[in-house]
Amino acid sequence: LSAEAQEVLDEIEEENVDFLRLQFTDILGTVKNVSITADQAEKAFTEGIYFDGSSIDGFVRIQESDMRLDPDPSTFSVLPWRESVEGGSSARLICDVINTSTGEPFSGDPRGVLKDAIKRASDLGFEVNAAPEPEFFLFEEDEDGRATTKTNDAGGYFDLAPKDLASDVRRDIIYGLEDMGFNIEASHHEVAQGQHEINFTYDDALTTADNVATFRSVVRAIAAEHDLHATFMPKPIPKINGSGMHTHISLFTEDGENAFHDEDDEFNLSDTAKSFVAGILEHAPALAAVTNPTVNSYKRLVPGYEAPVYVAWSDRNRSALIRKPAARTPAASRIEARFPDPSCNPYLAFAALIHAGLDGIEKDLECDDPVRENIYEFDEEKREEYGITTLPENLGEAVDALEEDEVVSDALGEHVFENFVEAKRQEHKEYLVDVSQWELDRYLEKF
Ligand code: GLN
Ligand code: MG
Ligand code: MG
Ligand code: MG
Repeated sequence: LSAEAQEVLDEIEEENVDFLRLQFTDILGTVKNVSITADQAEKAFTEGIYFDGSSIDGFVRIQESDMRLDPDPSTFSVLPWRESVEGGSSARLICDVINTSTGEPFSGDPRGVLKDAIKRASDLGFEVNAAPEPEFFLFEEDEDGRATTKTNDAGGYFDLAPKDLASDVRRDIIYGLEDMGFNIEASHHEVAQGQHEINFTYDDALTTADNVATFRSVVRAIAAEHDLHATFMPKPIPKINGSGMHTHISLFTEDGENAFHDEDDEFNLSDTAKSFVAGILEHAPALAAVTNPTVNSYKRLVPGYEAPVYVAWSDRNRSALIRKPAARTPAASRIEARFPDPSCNPYLAFAALIHAGLDGIEKDLECDDPVRENIYEFDEEKREEYGITTLPENLGEAVDALEEDEVVSDALGEHVFENFVEAKRQEHKEYLVDVSQWELDRYLEKF
């Protein structure tokens, strides 16, 4: 038993933990749990816990279904919102998925896919830091406890109580997150009614992806305690701002220097950073399939709502795909990818972004000058003059772009790529044959 695992066992004792949730995510980013009793914890660390992988979407076929979960002791955390019947508490551990026939990490495990991306960065001498800004809506539930799209507050961007009735809920969410070890930097009411954002400190990319998965469950669980439904759906209400998950990224060298910082550059960005940006811009259409993976994602990526549409970077304006935020210290120099949304699988999204950026570094790609004007207002001619292309307009186009892009396809690995594309094609197809309310409103009485 490792020292770290022993520490977890001690904590389980101290905190009176009865149940352990062993967690991993499927390819679509849904958190899966296998619950074990606390007395199984030692065995979980020494032997792993076996489960049937064929019942997880996109994992394996029935003939090869034995999988193993190896818990990562550094992810141990007592759940703040769920007491067990006996009065003890529950805790969770995030796990790596192992293929029992080879004993190797399972190639369909998104966490493993991200580890591979981090490994590639580390082979090039870089550590990857990431920080997300997940946005979400809090909606009222109806009498049956189902989510509506009614908001329970009338706040707007950075508004405070008494207008911001939801600030109590947000405070409880923040306490819950802090109990789980999050370091919350800021939280505020977002632009739209009922929309919120909570920011937590950056960390290495793997920890941050784990954090995003945890964040979504904590926010939903604590909102539910207030009879509210928290949704990370990218665009729940048309014609107002949607929810993004802006992702800040920087690369540090092994001796702790920020490889993205250059004192002498006009934007304080190193050539390494600019090549990383160029890599993301180059692969943006394919990345979108991973960072914006739902039919609904593309309802957010339209002009006018602070979400990007055009493939360009800027040191200021928020209509660009990538922004260089102002940074007070060299360590804080970073880039902000503004296109991801919180319906993504954070492991796959970060992995894809890292590979695209590293591709830019390896190929020494260069960025054009930043665009400082509001690109929403450009016409086609002006965009052409600036060489600005657009993101895919829908999930189908994004999957087409993914299939044509070797770097992003390879980032996912064959297993995830194939299952992901199949699931997303199906999702888009189902959407295409549906008849929407918009169509009924428009045509039913007209024809
Ligand atoms: N909600 C916007 C988006 O969709 C972002 C708004 C903001 O953070 N200023 O990305
Ligand atoms: Mg923000
Ligand atoms: Mg925001
Ligand atoms: Mg932002």
